[in-house]
Amino acid sequence: MEYAIGCDIGGSFIKIGTLNRDGEIPSWQTIPSPEFSSAEDFAAWISGILLEIPEKKKQGRVIGAGIGIPGPLRYPQGILYDPPNLLFKGEIPIKEMTQKRLPFPVFFDNDATVQTLGEAWKGLGKGLKNFLYIALGTGVGGGIVIDGKVFRGTDGMAGEIGHITVDYKGRTCLCGSKGCLETYASINGIANSLMELNSPLPSEISDALKSHDWKKLPEILKKRIGRGETKWQDIWDIFADGLGAGLGSLINLFNPQRVIISGGLSYYSDFFLKRTQDIARERSFKQPGATCEIVISNLKEKAGILGAAFLAFSETGSKFTFESKKV
Ligand SMILES: [Zn+2]
Repeated sequence: MEYAIGCDIGGSFIKIGTLNRDGEIPSWQTIPSPEFSSAEDFAAWISGILLEIPEKKKQGRVIGAGIGIPGPLRYPQGILYDPPNLLFKGEIPIKEMTQKRLPFPVFFDNDATVQTLGEAWKGLGKGLKNFLYIALGTGVGGGIVIDGKVFRGTDGMAGEIGHITVDYKGRTCLCGSKGCLETYASINGIANSLMELNSPLPSEISDALKSHDWKKLPEILKKRIGRGETKWQDIWDIFADGLGAGLGSLINLFNPQRVIISGGLSYYSDFFLKRTQDIARERSFKQPGATCEIVISNLKEKAGILGAAFLAFSETGSKFTFESKKV
């Protein structure tokens, strides 16, 4: 049996698995992401991991590997441009650097685009012609499917939903712009909202803010709201207002059938989903607002490895599309 390797490179973890053409994942693993300051060292390390898989898995033939990586990345060339979430900088031909070390083909794409492919193949985007994907985590990633195909734009860099402006005089974003959706509806956004409060903060919150341990914040807010400290819901309301306003614009622009929300913060949807849906409907025209469902992904963290393997199958066999796999 032929199989593809799907690999999803995140800021904290790398998920890697082998998949057959039906999208079954017999095995997958999560490895902590080492921090490499040199792209050559990173390419050597990831090639080593990819090479180990066919050695361990004696049965079947690997047709190739797909890799989702934090961009910006030029597709299909696989060139990174100053990736803000990786330590190495500059213009990096990561595909070429990895390919020269491997006996099978390797394909790189933006992490959120790869996750969007996973949703289209096996998730809540299956069978849909038009949908949007949004991953809420430390930052915000996005993907756009139009007429049954992922829309990549001129340079392969479309889909940066996290960096659409929801307040043109708003918070300064890491990208250099102002009022990006990401500055409200992400872990960074939650930290921003807490830092803007004019009242003293409990020490567990101020300590997490000072030490930049922002990943702890959603859980801290959840526990405090659970204990009856309802004022912390205000932080989630700012989150939902930013996300809802952004989605309202996107619904007017794309008239999608669905918006699929994923990423680590999707586990906290009880605190923001209903308000996000209401605001998005208020901020969009009546008909596209009524048509579009805003839902939470059922694939969660598996979307990346599914989509990465899909990329390898589709790049090595022209007839392999998610449209042809439609049920
Ligand atoms: Zn931005």
